[in-house]
Amino acid sequence: MSSTPSLSAQETIDLFERYVVPNYVRFPVVLVRGEGSYVWDSDGNRYLDLFPGWGCNLLGHCPPPVVEAVRDQLSWLIHVPNTWYTEPQGRWAEALSQRSFGGQAFFCNSGTEAVEAAIKLVRLHTPKQRYKIITFEGGFHGRTLGSTTATAQPKYHEGLGPLVAGFLYAPYGDLEAVAKLIDDQTAGILVEPVQGEGGVRIPPEGFLSGLRRLADENDLVLVFDEVQTGCGRTGQWFAYQRFGVTPDVITLAKALCGGLAGGALLAKPDIASSLRPGMHAATFGGNPVAARAGLATIEMIERENLLERTRQLGALFEERLRQLQGQCEVVREVRVAGLMIGIELDVDGAPVVEDCMKRGLLVNCTQGTVIRLLPAMTLTDEQAHQGCDILADVLKAQAG
Ligand SMILES: *Cc1c(COP(=O)(O)O)cnc(C)c1O
Repeated sequence: MSSTPSLSAQETIDLFERYVVPNYVRFPVVLVRGEGSYVWDSDGNRYLDLFPGWGCNLLGHCPPPVVEAVRDQLSWLIHVPNTWYTEPQGRWAEALSQRSFGGQAFFCNSGTEAVEAAIKLVRLHTPKQRYKIITFEGGFHGRTLGSTTATAQPKYHEGLGPLVAGFLYAPYGDLEAVAKLIDDQTAGILVEPVQGEGGVRIPPEGFLSGLRRLADENDLVLVFDEVQTGCGRTGQWFAYQRFGVTPDVITLAKALCGGLAGGALLAKPDIASSLRPGMHAATFGGNPVAARAGLATIEMIERENLLERTRQLGALFEERLRQLQGQCEVVREVRVAGLMIGIELDVDGAPVVEDCMKRGLLVNCTQGTVIRLLPAMTLTDEQAHQGCDILADVLKAQAG
């Protein structure tokens, strides 16, 4: 087949009804092309995308340097197993290490895999009797069984039991509750430095540094799940840098490869050495195509000064949305960390998403009432204002 659609939208939807597992709620729209912050459907409609790729397309759709690097790599070597060395994987690990805490990388293909690797590493690194991991209510860590268990939201656990043993949950932001859960079987703490799927929840002052202190006092491994916050999303390479608290391990995926599938775990070298040959693996992990995409992503962010741009855009959104909060009674709270943006409403967010889409704007709703934006770093000021204008109109109409 070619990339230009030969089926009508309805014919494509019919294929899904017959042949695709119905585990997603989909909009009745077939997307065919993307460029930067715009995406087009099969009827030629253009949308301004403020949630490109569910946070994966942090550089926008089809960023040219990533496309070029991948094209080039495809003609050399697509995949070789990790029984061999390749220069792209080595250079990618170096690039990530140099921009973080000097850690070593384990590569995989998704966020949930990075979290699973972290769970195993925490257990393998600590003495045998220590296996418990503390995670946080409202958190999200992925959909495989370990990371689903780590995800302290009852709706994701329904019907799946028995879950993986050894996970304990504390309210996000509550250090005292964490301290009470720690005993001589505790091995680690796993936390998102800003909760994403949980509604863009920014940690209270002193929370992350408090977790660092508890981890140090009790010999625990502190893991930050930066699958959503990492790779520049909050205006620093990693969100831990924004809060000035260095964890022992971070997990990465989503934006890591400029829109291609890729995941990674970075661990301080003395902890990383607990994963020895035979203990863990990912067949496709660190393949040369993902590695070239990951390197091109880092290079583009630096060449185009996109971390600074992320902070600017975050400030622009914050100003516009705070204004809107003052004018619109359904907006309860605005939470902004770089280009991670949550607008908490007093009303159901689903109709807001629908109305925005009708007006050519793509946004997300999480937790029922939080409109979430994860815009691209390459968004223009004009596009940002356009998006805010549409959102303001839609929300004002909701308020009646
Ligand atoms: C999306 C997400 C995951 C899961 O990533 P997948 O690539 O879908 O497996 C894990 N943790 C966080 C914080 C996420 O936002």
